[in-house]
Amino acid sequence: MQQTLKTRLGDDMVLTDPAELLRFCRDWHGDVTSGAVAVLRPRSTEEVSAAVKTCLEFGLAIVPQGGNTGLVLGAIPDQSERQVVISLERMNRIRKIDADDFSAVVEAGCILSELKDAIAAQGMFFPLALGAQGSCRIGGNVSTNAGGINVLKYGMTRELVLGLEVVLPDGTIFEGLSTLRKDNRGIDLKQLFIGAEGTLGIVTAVAVKLMPNPDQVATALLGLASLDDAISLYRRARRDCCDLMSAFEFMPPLAFTLAREAIPDLPMPIAGDYPAYVLMEISGSGLVDVSDLMERFLEGVMESGLVLDGVVATSHAQARNLWLFREGMNEGQAKRGTHLRTDISVPLSRLADFVRDAEQAVLDVVPDCTNVSYGHVGDGNVHLNVLPPAGLSPQERLDRITAAKYAINAVLDDYSGSISAEHGIGRLKREDFEKRLDPARRGLLSALKHAIDPTLMMNPGCQLNLGRNS
Ligand SMILES: Cc1cc2nc3c(=O)[nH]c(=O)nc-3n(C[C@H](O)[C@H](O)[C@H](O)COP(=O)(O)OP(=O)(O)OC[C@H]3O[C@@H](n4cnc5c(N)ncnc54)[C@H](O)[C@@H]3O)c2cc1C
Repeated sequence: MQQTLKTRLGDDMVLTDPAELLRFCRDWHGDVTSGAVAVLRPRSTEEVSAAVKTCLEFGLAIVPQGGNTGLVLGAIPDQSERQVVISLERMNRIRKIDADDFSAVVEAGCILSELKDAIAAQGMFFPLALGAQGSCRIGGNVSTNAGGINVLKYGMTRELVLGLEVVLPDGTIFEGLSTLRKDNRGIDLKQLFIGAEGTLGIVTAVAVKLMPNPDQVATALLGLASLDDAISLYRRARRDCCDLMSAFEFMPPLAFTLAREAIPDLPMPIAGDYPAYVLMEISGSGLVDVSDLMERFLEGVMESGLVLDGVVATSHAQARNLWLFREGMNEGQAKRGTHLRTDISVPLSRLADFVRDAEQAVLDVVPDCTNVSYGHVGDGNVHLNVLPPAGLSPQERLDRITAAKYAINAVLDDYSGSISAEHGIGRLKREDFEKRLDPARRGLLSALKHAIDPTLMMNPGCQLNLGRNS
């Protein structure tokens, strides 16, 4: 089969050497390694279409891949003998940046940070921002409907997409790269592919919305007495800073320890220990004075005792260091070995109660584990991660992770929350997702999948188990 693929698609497109396949077949944390018949790396939409048609002809299932930073095992095969990876990494051209139109058209394989830099060089701003932005690719961001730190002000990826070009499971090219902001000609088909995690087609290019560059940014790290206080602070900031607040992240004290395990020389930004921390950002452009707004806001909340201590970045480098704590946390947790990662949302008004109840539920079943709750509090999105202690066997770790997950999900169901606020379902959360699907929703999802991908070749086993997993 490998030789057939090479003959059909050319040696340049097809990788088969197991050593070369490895980076496409291992997840970001290194928890899971699989394999693939081959990795196909097309350079154009037409080559993607040809690759898809060839796979269809030979009954090979396709796992689309962007930067492979997804955290739910959606981008790596689980049936290595019947699946190929189609990597978009070589489709990384910026087709157009139009400052007058506040839009850009880019290929799916553009790395998010490179895309943001190219747009910034034209004096514009693309607001999607996440810890993985140096590796994730815009097609992956669209396919997972990624969130990140700026959702508060700019929304999820879905709200930043104007149009899509997609190769459908039969190889047809769906040309929907419109940059119109208003277009109510019937059902908005691009929405089908946003958040579909590669189960309905391969996104090859994206038309995105651009914003004016927020040339003023004020960043502050604040120490508080509790998560309840962090939520009160958020409510007050929403009113006092209105639409200018672009990020509001909650972190526990352990954040600093974890970040410094990943980045040992990271300077401590704040003296003293506090039970809760908030990293807050206000940004704006034009005639607004963002520093003054931050100063006046902090004066008020410190006077009232809601904020116990705080530091405001006075330079871009200082702001970057504050963010490194938030970003370094992820790597620090990865260094502690396999652990439970959750990506939960509940109504904001119930977030503090949920975290309290869920953390207690975890400690009831796995008392030797450590809870780490942090996240995009303004979006009601918390990552309640559970770190098993060092020195356990892989099976002992897995048992604790499984017990903690069931305990958290049971509490989450009581709060009518979501098991996936941002990261998607992939293969990792499929079982938990399917268990919670009501028949009407399952019926619709299944009907859509069968209509668009009748041979079930696109990312089988991702999101839903529809009977063909190879
Ligand atoms: C350190 C770190 C921080 C993170 N922070 C956040 C965060 O704040 N918010 C957030 O939402 N996520 C976050 N993530 C998760 C991840 O970065 C996002 O889900 C991201 O959008 C995935 O992009 P990717 O290019 O890496 O996609 P991949 O991992 O390659 O793929 C993800 C899914 O999309 C499918 N896919 C990829 N490209 C295409 C395509 N062109 N067409 C069709 N399907 C495709 C894959 O099959 C897979 O199902 C983080 C991850 C890491 C490692």
